[in-house]
Amino acid sequence: MHDSVPLLDLGAQNLPLEDEYTAAFQRVFRSSRFIMGPEVEKLESVIAEMCGAAHGIGVSSGTDALLLALMSLGIGPGDEVLCPTFTFFASGGSIARTGATPVWVDVCPVCFNIDLADAERKITSRSKAIMPVHLFGQAAEMDGCMALAEKHHLHVIEDAAQALGARYRGKYVGTFGEFGTFSFFPSKNLGGFGDGGMVLTNDDELANQARILRVHGGRPKYYHKFVGGNFRLDPLQAALLAVKLPHLHRYSVMRKANAEYYIEHLGAIPGVAQADPAACCCPIEKASQDLTQKGVKVVLPVAYDHCDHIWNQFTLRVINPASAAEPVAGAELTPRDQLKEHLIAQGVGCEIYYPLTLDRQECFTNNSHGGETISAAHQLSSEVLSIPIFPELTGPQKARVVQVIAEGIQGI
Ligand SMILES: *Cc1c(COP(=O)(O)O)cnc(C)c1O
Repeated sequence: MHDSVPLLDLGAQNLPLEDEYTAAFQRVFRSSRFIMGPEVEKLESVIAEMCGAAHGIGVSSGTDALLLALMSLGIGPGDEVLCPTFTFFASGGSIARTGATPVWVDVCPVCFNIDLADAERKITSRSKAIMPVHLFGQAAEMDGCMALAEKHHLHVIEDAAQALGARYRGKYVGTFGEFGTFSFFPSKNLGGFGDGGMVLTNDDELANQARILRVHGGRPKYYHKFVGGNFRLDPLQAALLAVKLPHLHRYSVMRKANAEYYIEHLGAIPGVAQADPAACCCPIEKASQDLTQKGVKVVLPVAYDHCDHIWNQFTLRVINPASAAEPVAGAELTPRDQLKEHLIAQGVGCEIYYPLTLDRQECFTNNSHGGETISAAHQLSSEVLSIPIFPELTGPQKARVVQVIAEGIQGI
């Protein structure tokens, strides 16, 4: 009987530093300073400095980081914000919560990130901002995004929740737009001990506005020119994250080594090919046709040369020969679903990020646009499967994942 391989093993990362975490807890505990203060300020400045941003603002979650960024830019009812439809819910949810209208943009089937040609087609006189998401840890196409934003006078909010430490042409993500937002949710690359997040900005005035809105919009205290929220990061969380932060680079190197192992060993299995960077932002019909013609069943993700991918997820595409144009409830299992069932049955953790694109979420039926022309993202949502990539994966665990996938591919 083989040992199972979890999708994520937080203990393997956290337990070796238990003494340091305990000391950090004790320091905060004895200080009795439980709201804001030096622990939060220290983490803010270290992360801002690491990424090359002028300001870091610690917040309560990656979701609140997005909300705070949108609120600080004054985005609200009547405004439209361009957002990839293939992302975690919070990207679009935070736009809707401001009263603005999310406008769904298709994604590239190769890099999974926002399709800028589709974004440009969807710009109207109401468009106020664009929210590139650096999905799975690889930067979106930021040169193109910034050029598009400049041409159409759009604000740029980078959802970098999955990409702390990732770079695009050498520059850290989260520092291109007016705001970059990060999450310390435990499954993120800098995973905390509960919820937490960070906002980065290079703009002094926006930083000031975000700091005011983080504490209910009051400055001085109890005098409110704006309606903000309680978006604060706990000092306890900040102190614990400061223990982990010096190890982040090492963790990213380990994730990268795991990705390279998979690319080599999964790539050697018949029916597996790596995505072609030259096909980035090509139409999905073309990409999947070419791949099926060659007998490809599974496509491996690719790290672009100009990006420093930090591999928050390693996401396979299990080619679905049927079109995913219409979501069919209770339909036959797709090849992806079959492979997933095989992995689970063999004790290999895996997850579908994401099974339903945002344009198809019930809550957005009457308050969003752009879903009519989505295609690549719908196809991806029927094909993607993320496998274990956490830094502490052992050699035998990686070999087991490859073996189970090789067996699973025979059955699809
Ligand atoms: C995790 C995540 C968020 C939200 O972060 P939380 O800390 O869980 O609120 C937002 N966007 C993306 C792309 C994410 O992956």
